[in-house]
Amino acid sequence: MSSVQTVTVLGATGSIGCSTLDVLARHPERFEVYALTANSRLDALFDQVLAHRPRYAVVQSESQAEVFLTRLKDNGLSTQVLYGEAGLCQVAAEADVCMAAIVGAAGLMPTLSAVRAGRKVLLANKESLVMAGQLFMDAVAESGACLLPIDSEHNAIFQCLPRFVDNGLDELGVSRILLTGSGGPFRQRPIATLSTVTPDEACAHPNWSMGRKISVDSATMMNKGLELVEACWLFRCPPSRIDVVVHPQSVIHSMVEYVDGSVLAQLGNPDMRTPIAHALAWPERIASGVGSLNLIAQARLDFEAPDEQRFPCLRLAREAAEAGGTASAILNAANEVAVAAFLDGQLAFTAIPQILEKVVESQENCEPRTLAIVQAADAEARERASRLIQAL
Ligand code: NAD
Ligand code: MG
Repeated sequence: MSSVQTVTVLGATGSIGCSTLDVLARHPERFEVYALTANSRLDALFDQVLAHRPRYAVVQSESQAEVFLTRLKDNGLSTQVLYGEAGLCQVAAEADVCMAAIVGAAGLMPTLSAVRAGRKVLLANKESLVMAGQLFMDAVAESGACLLPIDSEHNAIFQCLPRFVDNGLDELGVSRILLTGSGGPFRQRPIATLSTVTPDEACAHPNWSMGRKISVDSATMMNKGLELVEACWLFRCPPSRIDVVVHPQSVIHSMVEYVDGSVLAQLGNPDMRTPIAHALAWPERIASGVGSLNLIAQARLDFEAPDEQRFPCLRLAREAAEAGGTASAILNAANEVAVAAFLDGQLAFTAIPQILEKVVESQENCEPRTLAIVQAADAEARERASRLIQAL
């Protein structure tokens, strides 16, 4: 094995960030924490800095940085403090490995910074590929960055493939990808009651413990829709080659079907430390802290087709994937606004897809030739979604 690798964890205080630090702490002979970043939970960030002693901590604003630096110094810590997008982009580019685990569109520029520096990039922030897939993948090709998927489904698909997909699935003899999803907390709830579900009910995922935004996305199945777009870019395939399969137990994390009829699946307990450890050590394997899968206790693996009436977001995402252009950036931005409004108690759960559909219908789909075009589409969709929510 090579020497110790430095690791930046973008979004260190989040669900993926904490799981990443748990895995890193198990392998001090392999990894050294270079930088930790957080947006708001500075007490949690302080505890992480105390435990991991990174070279840098990155916070949101200059004023936060001053207060945080004083607190570190008062406690005898020599970690330097940076702030804002410039700080995030700097630490993302400087470490050997970048875990991209900021949630939402805010993750795009820091993740791209690591890509452009040609780093090993562990991608949890699916929104950056959904927003700017072509530009992102072009940047990967240009810099030679090693892009490894953390999303459990995409990590599973990657594990079921013989190598990276450079020229499409046909070259590898793959006929289709089976993207599995649990169906979330409302898979069986009477549809008529969905309009009154609370944010806490939507965030109570049956199998996974995650941040609140992705938890709501799982409840609407927009998460599976965003993952469909993500898979198209990562595995260079059209949406027609990807089938979504509802698998309530979340033991199979996705599958790949080959032209000879073979179907390969990756299984494991639903714990993100498995894909995180896989990508951190790839192509080697390291312990993750995840327990052994007990198939006897599990006893059953069930499968069903997704219910598009119950989950209109899935259809919207597939349509955006097929439309191309800025369609998925528009959908993603409107979704971030609608989900935040739902979590804030301003929007009914069932109004989320209604807002998205209206924004997508009303906004022009452009050719995303530059980041500026993507960012303008994102900003416009946010504004349209906000106006529609205010008008309710
Ligand atoms: P989370 O809400 O738990 O954590 C988000 C992190 O991002 C926090 O550290 C927060 O401080 C930081 N952050 C939020 N807004 C920011 C901003 N504007 N600028 C800078 N930093 C900001 O989210 P999570 O569940 O850990 O998810 C992170 C990403 O990983 C998401 O893109 C999600 O879709 C993806 N993902 C998560 C899981 C999971 O199991 N949690 C699984 C697959 C993919
Ligand atoms: Mg996933």
